[in-house]
Amino acid sequence: MKKTWQTKLIHSDAKIPEGYRSLTTPVYRGSTTVFASASAVNDHWNQHRAGYTYGLYGTPTALELAARICELESGKYTILTPGGQAAISLIDFAMLNAGDHILVPASVYSPNRKLTTQLLSRFDITATFYDPGIGGGIAGLIQDNTRLVWTESPESITMEVQDVPAIVAAAHARNVKVVLDNTWSAGVLFDAFQHGVDITMQAITKYIGGHSDLLLGSVTVREDGIYERLGAAQQVIGCAVSPDDCSLALRGLQTLAVRLSAIESSALEIAKWLEQRPEIERVLHPALASCPGHEFWKRDFLGSSGVFSIVFKKGPTQEQVFAFVDALKIFQVGYSWAGVTSLAVAYDISRTPGQPPYDHRIVRFSIGLESTSDLIADLEQALATLGQRKAVAQESWIANS
Ligand SMILES: *Cc1c(COP(=O)(O)O)cnc(C)c1O
Repeated sequence: MKKTWQTKLIHSDAKIPEGYRSLTTPVYRGSTTVFASASAVNDHWNQHRAGYTYGLYGTPTALELAARICELESGKYTILTPGGQAAISLIDFAMLNAGDHILVPASVYSPNRKLTTQLLSRFDITATFYDPGIGGGIAGLIQDNTRLVWTESPESITMEVQDVPAIVAAAHARNVKVVLDNTWSAGVLFDAFQHGVDITMQAITKYIGGHSDLLLGSVTVREDGIYERLGAAQQVIGCAVSPDDCSLALRGLQTLAVRLSAIESSALEIAKWLEQRPEIERVLHPALASCPGHEFWKRDFLGSSGVFSIVFKKGPTQEQVFAFVDALKIFQVGYSWAGVTSLAVAYDISRTPGQPPYDHRIVRFSIGLESTSDLIADLEQALATLGQRKAVAQESWIANS
């Protein structure tokens, strides 16, 4: 058929050689995917079963990333979401009905807590927030309408490592599913399925992305029935992922091992240095004995990543803790850890129920890829600023404690 130049803009007959074998997965952008015939049109979300039907359910770039994460986590199915928080909410919306009850660790990632208290509550889903150190004692909190036990190990900010196998045993005895937020371990330092977890999710935004330039999440499962619920919910919630972000995450995956290992050793050296400082009461790093649940880290994890917290001894005001963070020159202040840039954030956890008594004395670090000695020097000069302020204010919280 003869075409005008205007039509050629859309329907071109130009030819290029086929068979370019790139080492990288192409970025397939697309909302529409073309069907072979009128009768082939369908809207099934499962692209592995139905073939490609619509961009919302994943272009080949997204499916490639999902398949690789699934392989790494030894799952059967992985669904990608536009962020880690979207993975959390997808799990709750897919798995829960009105009238259900869930168990959530008191120190859970705070947007997960907010989802539970502010949104799920509107759909008549109730929650009990439990002590993350509860272990098998979770059995006492399981009700007849309990459907899910959330775990997060270690917890955000307060870093408690959970006895996941003990929680799984208690939950499974009552036919309750266990979900894990496995972001800290990048899905590779803790084997969720080997420890009995039913649904594992992580923020790909963090270590797999690894460069603070994308937002993605993943949910990985083994059971067909859970996968069907998740896929059907994802379709109607309509959370698509960007193929460009998936392409960046595929790049990130290739260097995950070397980044994690460099970050692990740097973070450990810094945590041990901080442990010796007179200003600090406690370093909450899962690989150190001072971290609650350290014994479970030792038993269950293959290594550690770069996120940990310190708790100052009693004395400094919140302003003084802020001043310490502000005095840091290499560490930047910001959320979304696990990039190449080291970060520090001061928290006041006194208003969240069920928290350890660290109040405003807790600072969380994410160690990046700067040189360890520069990071230690930065911490040293910021701690010295804290001492000077103390002298000016005629306080002696370090000497007294
Ligand atoms: C960052 C984070 C999330 C959420 O990930 P986003 O991609 O930022 O939505 C969930 N859980 C944990 C433990 C996190 O650190």
